[in-house]
Amino acid sequence: MGPIEQKAIQLMQKIRNENKKFNILLHINENLVDEAIVLDSKQNKGKLAGKFIVVKSNILTKGMIANCASKVLEDFVSPYDSTVIRKIREQDGLIVGMANMDEFACGSSGENSAFSPCSNPSALGYIPGGSSSGSAAAVAAGFCDVALGSDTGGSIRNPASHCGVIGIKPSYGLVSRYGLIDLSMSLDQIGTLSKNIDDAFLVLDVIKGKDELDARTFDSGKITNTLPSNLRVGVLKIKGVNPEIQKIIDKQVENLKVIYGWNVKEVKVDMIDLAVETYYPLVYSEFFSGTRKFDGRRFGKKIGDYSGKEVLRRILGGSEITKAEHFGRYYQKALQISNHIKNEMNKVFDTVDAVILPTCPGLPWKIGDEMRAEEIYAYDACTIPANLAGICAISIPSGTIKGIPVGMQIFCGKGQESKLYGVAKIASSLKQLSL
Ligand code: GLN
Repeated sequence: MGPIEQKAIQLMQKIRNENKKFNILLHINENLVDEAIVLDSKQNKGKLAGKFIVVKSNILTKGMIANCASKVLEDFVSPYDSTVIRKIREQDGLIVGMANMDEFACGSSGENSAFSPCSNPSALGYIPGGSSSGSAAAVAAGFCDVALGSDTGGSIRNPASHCGVIGIKPSYGLVSRYGLIDLSMSLDQIGTLSKNIDDAFLVLDVIKGKDELDARTFDSGKITNTLPSNLRVGVLKIKGVNPEIQKIIDKQVENLKVIYGWNVKEVKVDMIDLAVETYYPLVYSEFFSGTRKFDGRRFGKKIGDYSGKEVLRRILGGSEITKAEHFGRYYQKALQISNHIKNEMNKVFDTVDAVILPTCPGLPWKIGDEMRAEEIYAYDACTIPANLAGICAISIPSGTIKGIPVGMQIFCGKGQESKLYGVAKIASSLKQLSL
């Protein structure tokens, strides 16, 4: 038996034993072992041969169900491969299955799935985070090497932080969105989740690049682990962060200073505390517009009749704020502030190479705890700035509080993924702290 077949058999056994308990995968690739056998006998294998990949259920993967964890698209089988999946298959990566998520990527907990939330394998009984909940949980549970997620306001980094894994949101336009069922097209990016940092950047390097089918994509050179000499790091403080989480981040920054001699200073970004209030009107408006295609005629069922309450809230909110009589009041205002935050963020990168901050302002809550929408939205305060600015960001595990994982976030400028790799590689080699 070949090594890839052997790994496929082990993974399938693990998934069969544990998927019911965690509710991570909504669709399992039953041909995985056969595909592995074919690959074992292939002569010149691609860069991803032997890597097993789980995909968020909003990324089209031919022959597999991409239902966005929604009743609206319950049995929707992807008619073609998204650009990222095409590239992964060309390099011989194998697709394990499709992951649970918040419905249409709306959420930060995984609880908005129409097919029940998945559990957090690293903190049982707690939410896994979201919206790429199943992708993070799949990595934490050992169902794959790498998972794909999508990140509009933090949906890769937030569950990565809560599940104790690595999550990357690439710069806007680095990765094609063709075949991604969008939440908010001006902010969405597909990225990776993994335990191993080299695997994360390897897959990112494969899926990146200019694509005729997504006009916003740009070309970049190969992504390599690159660390500038005399690295300058900015520390960014965001209002409302749990003091214990901030303590872990501060201690890790201190360690980087002492062990590696990094130059550290505090940086400020004007209006950053308005990031959440700026983001949601943009998302509501773009989501409302993007979901008009789910009218029950072409794909699945009519969205307003079959979606859960968070999706409905955004559709109703989006239809209201985009009315002609409100012209200039919400969407345009939010765009203005968003541009301001983007410019302010870019100014910061004139003086530092990377910015460090927590990934989430709070710890995951218990599944089933009552949370108000505003409280949940506030969990995005540290991640949204990277989406508004279009820059790249990563969350890496940095410690635990009473056994619950805490992530540290690193931002680098737009298109600076190689630098992000270099900084994150060192930061992720630090010993985890526990409080
Ligand atoms: N929590 C954010 C939201 O609900 C982020 C979603 C995402 O990044 N997909 O909009």
